[in-house]
Amino acid sequence: MADHIRIRGARTHNLAGLDLDIPRDQLVVIVGVSGSGKSSLVFDTIAAEAGYQLNETYPPFVRNRLPHWSRPDVDLIEGLSPVIVIDQKRIGGNARSTVGTITDTWAYLRLIWSRLSEPHVGESNRFSFNDAHGMCPTCSGLGEVVQVALDRLLDLDRSLVEGAIRLPGYGLQPVLVPAARRRCRIRC
Ligand SMILES: [Zn+2]
Repeated sequence: MADHIRIRGARTHNLAGLDLDIPRDQLVVIVGVSGSGKSSLVFDTIAAEAGYQLNETYPPFVRNRLPHWSRPDVDLIEGLSPVIVIDQKRIGGNARSTVGTITDTWAYLRLIWSRLSEPHVGESNRFSFNDAHGMCPTCSGLGEVVQVALDRLLDLDRSLVEGAIRLPGYGLQPVLVPAARRRCRIRC
């Protein structure tokens, strides 16, 4: 497998015959001012060609039912593998979201496991950390446990007067009584 995606002479939209090698199997971030061609390169060149190449591997019957990818205007592009395109919309995630849930690949993985697992389970929901039967009993599938750090709250070796309560504002502190306002009796 190639270790780079090689692109030569990319002319999609406003790209001016761009030559580029993008390392594979790494997180690569493409930045640039608005209109510089980031989307033309990532979505309309790389993803389009990868989608086109993947569709070519299917028989026409399947191909007609898949999203249609038109080939980008590029001299050469190689080192591609199937791509997952996540659009630029804001992702409405929560504490239970992962890359898997947001891209929907998680649903397919659960399906594979439910079909191929030994012992056989059969229900893909049983492999979900959001399902009562599938989730980790310790963290309820959240991946982390929130607990009160009692030792940071209390020093059990001290009495209350000695400052056992460590939480700022809750210990025994001298109480400052605001001075009462006195009215001026001379001039009023
Ligand atoms: Zn857990």
